[in-house]
Amino acid sequence: MGNLLSGKKIIVMGVANKRSIAWGCARAMADQGAEIIYTYQNDRLKKSISRLVNDDDHLIECDVASDESIKAAFATIKERFGQVNGLVHAIAYAKKDELSGSILNASREGYALAQDISAYSLLAVSKEAEKQDLLTAPASIVTLTYFGSERAVPNYNVMGVAKAALEANVRYLARDLGEKNVRVNAISAGAVKTLAVTGIKGHSDLLKESQSRTVDGVDVTTTEIGGACAFLMSDMSTGVVGDVIYVDKGVHLI
Ligand code: NAD
Repeated sequence: MGNLLSGKKIIVMGVANKRSIAWGCARAMADQGAEIIYTYQNDRLKKSISRLVNDDDHLIECDVASDESIKAAFATIKERFGQVNGLVHAIAYAKKDELSGSILNASREGYALAQDISAYSLLAVSKEAEKQDLLTAPASIVTLTYFGSERAVPNYNVMGVAKAALEANVRYLARDLGEKNVRVNAISAGAVKTLAVTGIKGHSDLLKESQSRTVDGVDVTTTEIGGACAFLMSDMSTGVVGDVIYVDKGVHLI
């Protein structure tokens, strides 16, 4: 327990269950004194997150596929909590059949869906937060990306392309929100066994390969990823802008 984030209110989008990277981020930030406001995708996800967060006031529905849903969620947050200091975007989606084999099998529709949910949604939530004056400066937005944006990782396909777009979004958003004292960064996390990963064909090989490439042969944890997120949310990182920080125990090096 520390007080790096005491007095800060932070929105965390993307907790599905206790394995979620967003949950690791939320816990690490709460441990540093932050008040966490959670958004969940739909009723099914609400059931699951309610097992972790026993406080309905801090649970707000937000489906990033819908501008109306984002608008309503942020209006509720502003009304209930006032302005907030940060937002963690830990959301991605692609159809299972887009995450196997050759990228030559990518469909126009599947490609667009992966881009919409996994990359455009960062712009959508940043735009709406700005429109509703939801963030109070100095503020920080953090998203989650993966190394498959830079390398052709087996089966990752349209999601790798979406992550490349997401990282570009981080840079453009960081430029355009900078003068408002809102920083935007991404964490490139190592592979972790979450619900999202199980959609990738051969995910157990991906996880094994990733573990074997860490510098000490031990997987990165959501607690470690959360620690970096807490740092990026804090005023200790005001010089870090528009960047992608690896939290993968060196997998990208080797
Ligand atoms: P997860 O399945 O726990 O979380 C994914 C979340 O995205 C879920 O909570 C889901 O409800 C949410 N989501 C999907 N579509 C949505 C929509 N339309 N509206 C609102 N929410 C929606 O998996 P995770 O691995 O913790 O994923 C979190 C982020 O971390 C993703 O961006 C993922 O790509 C990224 N990431 C994961 C890994 C990994 O190995 N698990 C590595 C690097 C980056």
